[in-house]
Amino acid sequence: HGGVVVVGAGQAGVQVAESLREAGYDDPVILVGEEPRPPYQRPPLSKEYLAGKLPDAELALRGDRFYEDRGIRLLVGRRAVELDRSGRVLTLDDGTVLPYGHLVLATGARPRPLPVPGGRLEGVVGLRTLDDAQELCRRLESARDVVVIGAGFIGLEFAAACRAAGLNPVVLDIAEQVMGRAVSAPTAAHFAEQHGLRGTRLLMGTAPTELVGRDGRVTGVRTADGTTIPADLVVTGVGVLPNTELAALAGLDTDNGIVVDEYLATEDPHISAIGDCAAFPDPRGGGRIRLESVQNAADQARCLAARLTGAARPYDALPWFWSYQGDLRLQIAGLATGHDHTVVRKDERTQGLSVYCFRGSSLVAVESVNRPADHMAARRLLASGVTVTPEDVAGPEFSARAHMA
Ligand code: FAD
Repeated sequence: HGGVVVVGAGQAGVQVAESLREAGYDDPVILVGEEPRPPYQRPPLSKEYLAGKLPDAELALRGDRFYEDRGIRLLVGRRAVELDRSGRVLTLDDGTVLPYGHLVLATGARPRPLPVPGGRLEGVVGLRTLDDAQELCRRLESARDVVVIGAGFIGLEFAAACRAAGLNPVVLDIAEQVMGRAVSAPTAAHFAEQHGLRGTRLLMGTAPTELVGRDGRVTGVRTADGTTIPADLVVTGVGVLPNTELAALAGLDTDNGIVVDEYLATEDPHISAIGDCAAFPDPRGGGRIRLESVQNAADQARCLAARLTGAARPYDALPWFWSYQGDLRLQIAGLATGHDHTVVRKDERTQGLSVYCFRGSSLVAVESVNRPADHMAARRLLASGVTVTPEDVAGPEFSARAHMA
């Protein structure tokens, strides 16, 4: 029983394989992915890719020879279906049996299905995979009435891409605030206003009750007040569900994700979980969290590879994130969850904005819009542990960079 087997050839899976090799690990590394192609980046799928600005080849996470050059065995188009923990073997859907010394679950997440009738009509599309994005590119060529359900990051990014294609989408969400779960009220209000000014119709506090269609194709979205909004393309972005089935079948603990400790280990010492599928202890807030970001997937992969090569340390990387919505470039340092106070700094000249989020007197997150220098400084400031108060930030001369000096 030697070697590491990784289930899921996405951002986290590829990074853990790479970091193992960088750390000198020289036993077998096998990367199993169910998607029928080499690993690729997801973030552009709701951004540049839809505008036709990025050829398929540039989506690849690593170059053609990357896996071969490092002796990483890449098995794509195959799904792991069974996990025998006592025998330490993984079985794939084509019958392949892979013994492992350590198993990494990096299975990611999938779009949450829309909980209303009509979700399976033709013209109703989620957005997670390259196949989804290719279908959307095709449909955008002839679409006239686009409705986006869910005003989260992906929904709003997609809305901006629609506008770039000359369409004026309608975005609806049950919540009152856009990107409700993840950003502060001032940032949400700014994005709602700016999307509106650019031609998106936002219907907040609006629940879809049914997708209606004719001959199996979607024609509209019915809402709780009885209106039907015409639609020949409906994109759903109502969150994701972590892929925990394999872990749960093998008797591992799951609770909104595969449960791991601060070392990203499950209760089985031979199995770890990283990335979108992992529920881990929040090093800053207490409680368990699950994050959906490239930063989290990559940093957890690096942390795990370090442990597997003898340099164990708890996972405590500072979360950061970006969401580019047309010309509105949001960057977030830290986690705004649980903040109770914000200080807004606006640059009237460039319309850029940075929102400092505090929990009590501690700075927990900084959200920046078109202020990349603020974002980089905020990441350093939050990671440094240097104290900064709301009064500091509200001062006329405040700059995060100067504050640390
Ligand atoms: P994934 O990348 O989802 O990879 C998991 C892989 O495992 C998948 O390919 C899946 O098919 C495979 N798999 C699952 N189960 C099995 C099995 N049993 N057997 C074999 N294979 C299996 N993050 C940002 O930080 N910034 C952004 O701007 C941003 N934009 C995004 C835009 C879109 C459209 C999407 C979908 C995501 C975006 N994200 C963004 C989120 C980011 O892409 C994810 O957080 C990241 O991909 C997570 O990596 P992962 O490896 O955990 O999961």
